[in-house]
Amino acid sequence: MTADELTGQARTHIATLADPYCMLHAQVVQPFLNLRRAAKSHGFDLKPLSGFRDFDRQLAIWNGKFSGERPMHGVSGVQLDAAALAPLERIHAILLWSALPGASRHHWGTDVDLIDGLAGASAYPDKLTREAFAPGGPFAPLAAWLDMHAPRFGFFRPYQGRRSGVQPEPWHFSFAPIAEMARRALSPKVLRAAIAAAPLLGKELVLAHLDELHARYVETVDLP
Ligand SMILES: [Zn+2]
Repeated sequence: MTADELTGQARTHIATLADPYCMLHAQVVQPFLNLRRAAKSHGFDLKPLSGFRDFDRQLAIWNGKFSGERPMHGVSGVQLDAAALAPLERIHAILLWSALPGASRHHWGTDVDLIDGLAGASAYPDKLTREAFAPGGPFAPLAAWLDMHAPRFGFFRPYQGRRSGVQPEPWHFSFAPIAEMARRALSPKVLRAAIAAAPLLGKELVLAHLDELHARYVETVDLP
């Protein structure tokens, strides 16, 4: 992948799937369809809620949280008041759940947020929550199935909260062969160039701490 592809500023590596609608790295489409077929044979409708996401979309998420316009959550899931946090604390709080623009694994097209389209989840308007995937939640059976079977298809969960600086995201799966290449290629230098050119809130502070932020939230994930 080129620097622009790694940082979500190009989509030359992305293919669009019509059914189910999803944007993925061209080489991840077939592995994903294989996983989906296997899930279907076990009674699940593997539905991607979010595949490829570009830099500008991630920038809007970041700036919304930094400015307090979008809700921001702490480790326990409790809502935080952006204005009450010092800028560096605010940056770490955002990074518990959201990536820096340029450093989202969704830029690569190798990562996808998955739910079961057949599970009755009307009581869960926000589907990507830990409660929805925990025992008793509508997506608990899918989560258990994926944990057992996804590795056979090349997929793994990079955010389990064991090594990852990012909080556990049981819905977030990654296609290892290509994602691991991308993770190694996305150096602090590549990320710094993307951020330096963008209208990112808190940019000076992010750039001053970039090596540390990269080590904790980009480099350190739970490995396949
Ligand atoms: Zn995700």
